[in-house]
Amino acid sequence: MPLSSEEKEIILNSIRDIPDFPKPGIIFKDITTLLGNAKAFNTLMDHLTNRYLGYDLDYIAGIDARGFIFGSILADRLGIGFVPVRKQGKLPYTTVSEKYSLEYGFDEVEIHIDAFGETKGAKVLLIDDLIATGGTAKAAANLIDKVGAHCVEACFIMELAFLNGREGFSSEVYSVLQID
Ligand code: AMP
Repeated sequence: MPLSSEEKEIILNSIRDIPDFPKPGIIFKDITTLLGNAKAFNTLMDHLTNRYLGYDLDYIAGIDARGFIFGSILADRLGIGFVPVRKQGKLPYTTVSEKYSLEYGFDEVEIHIDAFGETKGAKVLLIDDLIATGGTAKAAANLIDKVGAHCVEACFIMELAFLNGREGFSSEVYSVLQID
C-alpha cells in the first residue's frame, strides 16, 4: 500500500538537515531524529513491512551502518535473515570487496563470501538510509551478485533525486521519500 501524504509528512518531518556536514556544501540528512521519534519510525517500518511482505525474499542486506538499523528490523518482521555489507576491514571471515566513490570521498565495501548460504540465486533486498550518487549501493549490489545471490530491489528511505543515483542500477530501485 502506498504511503498517504500524511504518513510521508510524518516521516519527512522527523528527519533533520545538518548543513555543511561532514564537508562544506553537503546537507547531511540526519535520521537519528527519525529513530528517536516512535511514531515516525513505526510508520516507516510498517510501510516497508507491508511493501515487502508481498515479495518472495530470502534475505535482506543492509549497508554499513544506517542500513543495518532499518534492514535488521525489516528482516525480523519478514522472518528472513539479515546480511551486513560492511566498510572495509570489519568482517572477520573471507570477504569479497568492491571499491566505489561517494558524494564526499572514496570507500570500499565488503561481504562475507558465504553470506547467503549454499543455495545459488538467493533473492535479496538491499537497503540503506539514503541514495545520493548511488555509488555505495551499486557496489553493494555488485557484491551480492559476486557471491552468487540476486539483488531483487534496492530500497532507500531517502533519494536525492537530483543526483540521479538510480540511473544504471541493475535491480529495481524504490525510495520512500524523494528529495529534489
Ligand atoms: P552515494 O554512494 O553517493 O549514493 O552515498 C550514499 C551513502 O552515503 C549512504 O550510505 C548514505 O548514508 C551516505 N550519504 C551520502 N550523502 C548523504 C547525505 N547528504 N546525508 C546523509 N547521508 C548521506
